[in-house]
Amino acid sequence: MEPLVIIGNGITGITTARHVRKRSDMPIVVISDETDHFFSRTALMYIFMGHMRFKDTKPYQDWFWKKNRIELMRGFVSEIDTANNKALRLRDGRRISYGKLLIATGSKSNKFGWPGQDLPGVQGLYSYQDVELLEENSRNVTRAVLVGGGLIGIEMAEMLLSRHIPVTFLVREKFYWNNILPEAESLLVSRHIREHGVDLRLETNLKAILPGADGRVTAVMTEAGERIDCQLVGLTPGVHPNIEVVKNSAVATGRGVLVNEYLETNIPDVYAAGDCAEIVTEGDGRNRIEQLWYTGRMQAQALAKTICGERTPYERGIWFNSAKFMDIEYQTYGYVHNQPRDGETSFYWEHPGGRHGVRIVYQNDSEAVTGMNFFGIRMRQHTCEGWIRDETPVDTVIANLAEANFDPELFRPHWEAIVTAYNRERGKQLRANFRPSLFQRIFA
Ligand SMILES: Cc1cc2nc3c(=O)[nH]c(=O)nc-3n(C[C@H](O)[C@H](O)[C@H](O)COP(=O)(O)OP(=O)(O)OC[C@H]3O[C@@H](n4cnc5c(N)ncnc54)[C@H](O)[C@@H]3O)c2cc1C
Repeated sequence: MEPLVIIGNGITGITTARHVRKRSDMPIVVISDETDHFFSRTALMYIFMGHMRFKDTKPYQDWFWKKNRIELMRGFVSEIDTANNKALRLRDGRRISYGKLLIATGSKSNKFGWPGQDLPGVQGLYSYQDVELLEENSRNVTRAVLVGGGLIGIEMAEMLLSRHIPVTFLVREKFYWNNILPEAESLLVSRHIREHGVDLRLETNLKAILPGADGRVTAVMTEAGERIDCQLVGLTPGVHPNIEVVKNSAVATGRGVLVNEYLETNIPDVYAAGDCAEIVTEGDGRNRIEQLWYTGRMQAQALAKTICGERTPYERGIWFNSAKFMDIEYQTYGYVHNQPRDGETSFYWEHPGGRHGVRIVYQNDSEAVTGMNFFGIRMRQHTCEGWIRDETPVDTVIANLAEANFDPELFRPHWEAIVTAYNRERGKQLRANFRPSLFQRIFA
């Protein structure tokens, strides 16, 4: 039997392999050019900051793969022949036949053709190799410049600050990450970045990266004509699907590898999932590219069933994302747009200390909650998703916010302040409910 071959040993490829193995005895081969073993990409920053060793970021012991008969292969797939042979070619000349093929090649860092973007000392942050390169590039640096606001940029800023490297952060937008965040949350995050000593420059575009006499980066020029001396430039203006491997094949692509809701491509027995996949949406909706850890895992779980003969659509459910802006945790549920949409209203509360914020978005007519943002407060995913799924009215959600919190007593003043602010703004008379948790009930 020809194997299931998976290109990419990230969360998507590996979750698919594990779940296929639970259901089937088919041979499985996972190929990656990055590392021998699966590791947590989201933990890359902690390796650089010295909080974790690389081996701590590997969720499975090295023996796990052999025991589960998942063959790991290190190499770069340069060609896919879907036409007659159902085969792959690796850059080193090896040829591998497949019965079924999963493309799970992830993303690549964006570069926008800036002069000097390929100079030594200029880099992105995506792969394990990028962290190794950052180790080299961050030596003897008196200033680093980061270009492009977003989640990876802020991680890179935190990484460099941990080595006491001064950081200037150029962000094109008027407010930090405000193509995603509403203005109030953008301001909260911007303030926090500056509190950490980052020289955050909003509405500032990079024009060029300049080389010094040694050929390495020595400065950047902004479009406003300012020169900023630096020895390291981090390019962090987002990522795009890594579809290089299918470029010369018959597999259809758009921005990513085009797939249907079953994560099937246009070629039989060829699938794509995770960051590299573009899910074609029927009707007027925009195709979806989901570049998140947990969506990669969810896609893989559905796909493993399909690969094993139980054809299963990928259903994402309620949108969720979480991240960290330096010391401030961020969670978002459902849809919180940066500008309110027609027919929706939102209520926003922020603690005067500027490190905690809550936004609840709801429909004007039904008052059903459709989205929530939380800053500096960790909420229970299950409860928040349930509120959105059940179209819970905003009054109920506001009064019961403490119920979704991991530590309602600690945050009690916040929940009371939120309800007071809501009552004042909306002329209501709600009270904050504190139902004791199961733990509290057992040990009361
Ligand atoms: C610094 C950083 C922090 C992040 N933090 C978060 C976070 O907090 N929360 C969150 O939800 N998401 C986060 N993400 C995004 C998340 O890591 C990705 O969505 C996820 O890793 C994508 O998984 P994947 O399996 O689809 O692809 P990847 O993890 O990119 O794995 C793809 C693998 O395929 C390999 N590959 C590609 N082409 C070939 C080829 N031709 N031959 C052989 N191998 C190939 C690549 O080298 C790579 O190892 C972060 C990303 C980065 C870079």
